Amino acid sequence: MSREGLLVIVCGPSGVGKGTILSALKERNGNIRYSISATTRSPRQGEEDGVNYFFKTREEFEEMIKNDELIEWDEYCGNFYGTPRSYVEQTIKQGYDVILEITVEGALNIKKKYPDCVSIFLLPPSFAELRRRIVGRGTESDEIITKRLEAARKEIEQVDKYDYVVINDYVEKTADSLNYILHSEKLKYTRNTDVLQRIGMKD
Ligand code: 5GP
Repeated sequence: MSREGLLVIVCGPSGVGKGTILSALKERNGNIRYSISATTRSPRQGEEDGVNYFFKTREEFEEMIKNDELIEWDEYCGNFYGTPRSYVEQTIKQGYDVILEITVEGALNIKKKYPDCVSIFLLPPSFAELRRRIVGRGTESDEIITKRLEAARKEIEQVDKYDYVVINDYVEKTADSLNYILHSEKLKYTRNTDVLQRIGMKD
């Protein structure tokens, strides 16, 4: 593969179903890779180090920031989250599309550093449904649920900062939409300025 892959940011409030959609997207598209973030949050039941996240102490995380090992980082509900640089940069160079599932603040920082990135915001079908999903997950205390709902409201208000917005009502439909977005992005002229050479009309 010679062409660089896309850097794709997928945002959306906690509970919108990002994990489910991104798994369904992977089934449709073999060219995507997911970046694994570093976090100081404790693992939830079933989460594994190096699979869901790289779980770090606060000191280890601060060391990563100091060594410029993260392309962005953010504090969310009292924990740090950050995107490791080396995996993202190498994988894009190899031609894969790399998906970052990060906070709004993190997304805005990535956009400043990588203006060519593609940003997608996932919305719930309604705010009531979002509350139902977060409560139904049953993995968080009432206090954390309240914090996450407040954070969700603030994040959703920033939907205008994204290139694309997709309402996650049905998993299959939403995953298809994300896949179409990736395909369309690759057809943009700005990503194909050598197109005349490719068809033999220019040296
Ligand atoms: P959770 O604790 O539910 O796994 O994630 C909480 C929030 O942190 C989610 O909105 C998730 O997208 C975001 N997040 C996960 N990894 C990163 C990261 O590397 N950077 C930033 N900025 N946000 C992240």
